[in-house]
Amino acid sequence: MKIPTYARYDYCNQRACEFLEENNIRSFPFDVKRIIYNSGWGLVTYSELMHQFSCDRDTVIRCLGSEDGYTQLDDVNYCIAYNDEEWLGDRIRFTLMHEIGHIYLRHLVDFEATRLYRGSLTKQENKVLENEANAFARNVLVPTAMLQQLKNKSVSNISNHFGITLAAAQTRLNFFYEDNRINKQNGTSSRLYTIFYNFYYKKKCTTCGYFIISKNIKYCPICGNKTLQWGESEMKYPAKIKLDENSKAVCCPKCDNEEVSPDGNYCHICGTYLINECTNYEGNYSEGCGRLAASNARYCIYCGAPTTFLQNGILKPWDFKENYNTFMSLPDTLDSEDELLPFN
Ligand SMILES: [Zn+2]
Ligand SMILES: [Zn+2]
Ligand SMILES: [Zn+2]
Ligand SMILES: [Zn+2]
Repeated sequence: MKIPTYARYDYCNQRACEFLEENNIRSFPFDVKRIIYNSGWGLVTYSELMHQFSCDRDTVIRCLGSEDGYTQLDDVNYCIAYNDEEWLGDRIRFTLMHEIGHIYLRHLVDFEATRLYRGSLTKQENKVLENEANAFARNVLVPTAMLQQLKNKSVSNISNHFGITLAAAQTRLNFFYEDNRINKQNGTSSRLYTIFYNFYYKKKCTTCGYFIISKNIKYCPICGNKTLQWGESEMKYPAKIKLDENSKAVCCPKCDNEEVSPDGNYCHICGTYLINECTNYEGNYSEGCGRLAASNARYCIYCGAPTTFLQNGILKPWDFKENYNTFMSLPDTLDSEDELLPFN
């Protein structure tokens, strides 16, 4: 493939959106180094290279042809080298994202010239690839949907909120309307809005540690407390019982009967009530709540009342501790037949 004459901003913006989705980004600023580790790419600092080759920083910069960073692809993997001088501050995050841009935009595999040595590119070719990596980086670090929702769009506020330098924030602002136009045109706008939604409506429960993304939620569905705060925690309390769109168990959670009738709400084998819903309805819906609940919900997220699954013992209370005593009683010394055991 030939290096394009102009930067492919449409492609860059789409790849930026895919990057946010694939890495499940819902924090800003997010940890760029962690993503590099999780992706299995190598990461090395200029300081480490200086040590390894017993040379000074200027030599590393001259050899790699960049004051900020460089990405290399050997047969199997990428490795990113970056200038780790402390005074660079948030510039390092942008550098790393820019380098990830070269990877994500397939610059090192699609173009033969870049694979061997980036120094062999013409000035114009190099500029196109640099512009593309920069476009990718700004659209990942500060997605248009996030900037759109930010009320105070001053350069310093953008810099603070997204962990980029003032200079990068100014550039981001300059390209905002153009990036926004591109995203609207190619349909990534709504996907980016979902990323904003996941950021803005993420909640953790300070009582039981539950994590949920939801707009209209007052009570924690796990512990029933009104202790949800904006933030993140690890997802606990997995939804093990599969429900249909009417919150009815697909197979009986008590006796495992798989032939649940589409009509009745009770298991015809064991008599279990199969719908998880709010128990607060006093026989008529106008008086109470009685709304449907999620598979792992012990409490109603709208009114805090217990759910049918909790009341009927299908779900255990969130702080219920099971008495595990499942260690097999193995003899202390194995007898002469131990060659029959499967782990000799
Ligand atoms: Zn570059
Ligand atoms: Zn809770
Ligand atoms: Zn049953
Ligand atoms: Zn309710």
